[in-house]
Amino acid sequence: MSATPAASSAPLSPLSFVHPTPDSPWGTYLMQVDRVVPYLGHLARWVETLKRPKRALIVDIPIELDDGSVAHFEGYRVQHNLSRGPGKGGVRYHPDVTLEEVMALSAWMSIKNAAVNLPYGGAKGGIRVDPKRLSKKELERMTRRYTSEIGIIIGPQQDIPAPDVNTNPQIMAWMMDTYSMNTGTTATGVVTGKPIHLGGSLGRVKATGRGVFVTGREAARRIGLDLQGARVAVQGFGNVGSSAAELFVQAGGKIVAVQDHSGTIFNGDGFDMSDLLAHVKDAGGVGGFAAGEVLDGEAFWDVPCDILIPAALEGQITAQRARRVTARLVLEGANGPTVPTADDILAERGILVVPDVICNAGGVTVSYFEWVQDFSSFFWTEDEINVRLDKIMVGALKKIWDTADRHQITLRTATFAVACERILTAREERGLYP
Ligand code: NAD
Repeated sequence: MSATPAASSAPLSPLSFVHPTPDSPWGTYLMQVDRVVPYLGHLARWVETLKRPKRALIVDIPIELDDGSVAHFEGYRVQHNLSRGPGKGGVRYHPDVTLEEVMALSAWMSIKNAAVNLPYGGAKGGIRVDPKRLSKKELERMTRRYTSEIGIIIGPQQDIPAPDVNTNPQIMAWMMDTYSMNTGTTATGVVTGKPIHLGGSLGRVKATGRGVFVTGREAARRIGLDLQGARVAVQGFGNVGSSAAELFVQAGGKIVAVQDHSGTIFNGDGFDMSDLLAHVKDAGGVGGFAAGEVLDGEAFWDVPCDILIPAALEGQITAQRARRVTARLVLEGANGPTVPTADDILAERGILVVPDVICNAGGVTVSYFEWVQDFSSFFWTEDEINVRLDKIMVGALKKIWDTADRHQITLRTATFAVACERILTAREERGLYP
């Protein structure tokens, strides 16, 4: 595999309401699409479809706070592409959420769902809020009002939300209940990532981290990197980062550095996972964990390691940080953690990147299993889930790897090539209405 052409100028957006830069999420996505055009053959005619969301809804979410005052929050639900099936993608609660970010995340969901061949389009939602500042009751009121507002475009056959940053099974339960109350149904299939008692699936909570591990295990095998003793650095120790870390430790690796919103810690001998997980549960983050050296945030990128797992937010691996990464393998647990200029630098330095659009697809794959189980009202064992997940991830990665080898392109461009071909074939076969 070799590097794709360099990209440094701002991508052109055909839309009037976003102004992407080369490193912004939507700008990054547009550049990734441009890079795949040479591999699309006659389907390149339809590529404009991918450069604009099908539908973008902005909603006002007024709620009464516990002190009796009224607060307004801005929420979004974007359906990027529905050619291959209903929309599917998570909901993020974060103070930095913007329409542009949600558009990019929804577009990456279109690519991801097609890359693992799930019968879904891509969608994403978010609320611009710091949920840590809300009480549980306020969080519930905000979630329910948001669900009601986006209720006009979601549904088990239309668009199925799921957890993302700062959202969890409890929030999915409130969403499912609100939608069900509004439609006079018990619509378990309207969201995934639900609690088990409400039609949730075994294995869903850790599925994204498991997918990161499975693609990492396969990539490591192919480049001759032994997981026994492998040093792993993880940014973001939430659902994705901590689940992936646990599996790498079980496979013989050691977690030498962890960074989250509360701090950065280092231990060359590897952290004890159960102690670290217990600390994070109590303290809300890795900051203050005694069994490690405290590092300055920027020093995280210089830590000697074999595998780097960005599992926090977008835009973390900048060009400047990409020059310092010591790992041989980067596993993108987060969505959009590497900007295009950094991608080029990593490729030039011979560092293999397993891109988000395949690496973190384990979560949506088990969400798909959950949705199928809800429809059939027949539930699988955790072993069945994990075996099927492993098989789908390994098969999808193999197809992508073969495509990368055939065209001598990066795994990211190969994933886009496989996915865009599937999406645009569906687009062409369905035709334009009217
Ligand atoms: P989470 O809320 O459980 O965890 C997020 C983690 O990121 C936390 O440890 C937080 O402290 C850390 N973080 C936040 N801001 C940070 C900063 N500025 N610097 C360093 N760390 C920071 O979220 P999650 O579900 O684990 O999602 C993490 C990433 O994985 C996101 O990009 C998300 O879109 C992606 N993802 C999640 C899923 C899923 O199933 N949850 C699926 C696919 C992709």
